[in-house]
Amino acid sequence: MNPFPTTSTNTSPTDVDHIQLLFTDVAGRLKTLEIAASRWNQVQNGGWTMDSSVLLGQGGPGHGDLRLVPDPDTFVVRPWRTPSGRTVGLAFCDVLDDRGNPFAADPRARLRHAVAGSEARGQRPVFGVEAEFYLLRSCDTRPQGPPVDTGGYWDLVEQEQADEVCRDTGDALEAMGFTVLGHHHEVCAGQREIVFRHGDALVTADRLLLLKHTARTMARRRGMKAVFMPKPLAHLYGNALHVHVSLRGTDGEAAPLFHGADDPQDMSALFRQSLAGVLEHADALTALGNPTVNSYKRLVPGSGTPVHRSWARHNRSTAFKVVGDGAEPGSTRLELRSPDPAANPHLLFTAILTAFGDGQDRGLKLSEACEEPTDTLGEAERAVRGIVPLPTDLPTALRALEENPTVREALGDLTTRAWLEASRADWNAWHRLVTPWEVDRYLDAV
Ligand code: GLU
Ligand code: MG
Repeated sequence: MNPFPTTSTNTSPTDVDHIQLLFTDVAGRLKTLEIAASRWNQVQNGGWTMDSSVLLGQGGPGHGDLRLVPDPDTFVVRPWRTPSGRTVGLAFCDVLDDRGNPFAADPRARLRHAVAGSEARGQRPVFGVEAEFYLLRSCDTRPQGPPVDTGGYWDLVEQEQADEVCRDTGDALEAMGFTVLGHHHEVCAGQREIVFRHGDALVTADRLLLLKHTARTMARRRGMKAVFMPKPLAHLYGNALHVHVSLRGTDGEAAPLFHGADDPQDMSALFRQSLAGVLEHADALTALGNPTVNSYKRLVPGSGTPVHRSWARHNRSTAFKVVGDGAEPGSTRLELRSPDPAANPHLLFTAILTAFGDGQDRGLKLSEACEEPTDTLGEAERAVRGIVPLPTDLPTALRALEENPTVREALGDLTTRAWLEASRADWNAWHRLVTPWEVDRYLDAV
């Protein structure tokens, strides 16, 4: 029996007991202020004042107070009840500064701004994501238990409880208005992927955060952990966040702008320029798509992840792949295969749209596709084709972001500074550790 049936009646904010007002910090974590539903009208009219360090982390003080204002269009009823049976609604908020303008470092506001830029060109972005995660056994003594099953890529497994976590998650998301396309076993033991239907940029970014929250909650209810960390287990593949994106016209017809009817690769000239923009800014995009120290442990050769800056129409080993079925023009899209689920989707999507715009404005020319596995081409051959490695560590990616005025401008100075500061603090904390591996290797040998 589906524990979260979709109800046909639209429940309003005053029909639930409590409401979690949601927003995201610069790192892409969901934050919340919870109110009793009886206070909804008051908060919607007057907002709720909060301290800017909630969004900015340590760099926050000195930016004045902010105001959270819920966006009623995003209201949904959370289909699972609290342990004592209360009902909870969820609503995303706009974050305003002390003058009532969108706060410069609100990731949702940055994405709205980037989408407005695309729309001014007559282009409506459409985003989809594939969310991979591990289901691990809960463990009292360690943060990380073993994978819950021994299955592999698309395997039909007999670990019914693990399947139930995916079903619970899918049904709960459907009840919140998602169209869940399906879920399947990923390459490694305990690894799963859930895919929901693409949509507008802001909706997809918001939904990804809700998916992570829902999967973690559903796993916990069955005594497991849903883990979106990029590389939780050293000997198994990491978790990817494949991002699919295309542009459509903003007029009534919403024509698919990436489809090229007479092109052998099914790509329009606009698609070629947009992809050339993404390749041009790929290193800075890496800082946003692979934002943690741990992200770079996933980005290693031979682990199902791309490590070079190249694109292809058919080859799945490239960081950027053209996907689509020529018979269905609307399906032609770009897939970015290197991001991981630690990314802040709002800021990553912002940077992708900015790279598209820059490629179009400068009329950048797209390099040749690389249809052979990039890893197997020799270095000399890669050099001839202009295929270079993507950043292999966090400091290199952060430097690329810092030195990229186009992406910095799209994120805004405040966001970029907070991002760089927090990421470098993480790197420094990691860099100062002396790990057991080093002790084993060097203690007696050096
Ligand atoms: N898990 C792989 C990665 O980390 C991707 C597997 C797939 O192709 O779906 O990139
Ligand atoms: Mg996958």
